[in-house]
Amino acid sequence: MEIGEGDTILFWHHWWIGDKSLSVMFPRLFYLSNNQRGTIKSMGDWVDEKCEWKLSWNRELSGRDLEQANTLHSLINRARANAAAKDGWRWKPSPNGCFSVKTAYKVLCSEKNPTVHPHEDNIWSLIWKAAVPFKTRTTAWRILKGRLPTCDELQKRQVSFQNADILCGFCKVKDETINHTFFECFKADEVWKEILRWIGKQTTMNHKAKEHLLAFINLGNKDDSHFLLVVWLCTIWCIWKERNVCKFNQGVWRKEKLVAEIKTRIWGWMEAFKMQRITSDFRRWFTEAKLHG
Ligand SMILES: [Zn+2]
Repeated sequence: MEIGEGDTILFWHHWWIGDKSLSVMFPRLFYLSNNQRGTIKSMGDWVDEKCEWKLSWNRELSGRDLEQANTLHSLINRARANAAAKDGWRWKPSPNGCFSVKTAYKVLCSEKNPTVHPHEDNIWSLIWKAAVPFKTRTTAWRILKGRLPTCDELQKRQVSFQNADILCGFCKVKDETINHTFFECFKADEVWKEILRWIGKQTTMNHKAKEHLLAFINLGNKDDSHFLLVVWLCTIWCIWKERNVCKFNQGVWRKEKLVAEIKTRIWGWMEAFKMQRITSDFRRWFTEAKLHG
């Protein structure tokens, strides 16, 4: 994340520095903070591009809390802002080690991929710039990196399960993996088929996340690619939420409800992010989302 005025980035909740949000990295300090919902701007005074942080606590820090606060300060002191600009997202090619997007990029480059393929590079920057909520972008990023806490990923980290728990939350037959949950499972596949029908495309999709995404955003012409990306991101986001409901809250899978939710959310995001639409008729669009090409 690139810090501009800092008035839209929540200090504790948004993932703007390091590899997690600060409330997750420093839960104790978050608990002790007097300004849990504060923006970056409200947490200090920016002089040029550096910040003099003025964090306030609901009691005097001592012992481990003080140590944690020192660690927190040394982390946030690395942040730089461009106060003349709006807060925003974009890749920072210059290596200053401050921002999460860059951290993400570095992680990507260092893991298994000593050289990043140009089109892969584009995928990440595309996702970070997509007009969708932050959580949706990070979920997509984790899916593409194979880092969502599906059962197989948790098992690799020695989290143990009862036998039934390792099964897919939807079909309850196959083992739960990222590719299975989002693309391969016949229930997820039904959703994608419905979405494809909605945008007027009938094709067989790859069951691997990255290939699926690339094929999907290329289903229309250039003018459609951002819309298609938003559709893709929204679909995986809703499938993931549904998976959690099915897995942990005994939810019942209902394809129609899920597909309707996906479309309605996309419409809402298009409004919120001021994306151009072909039509202003929600009902017609809900029935059939026409592409340019
Ligand atoms: Zn399944």
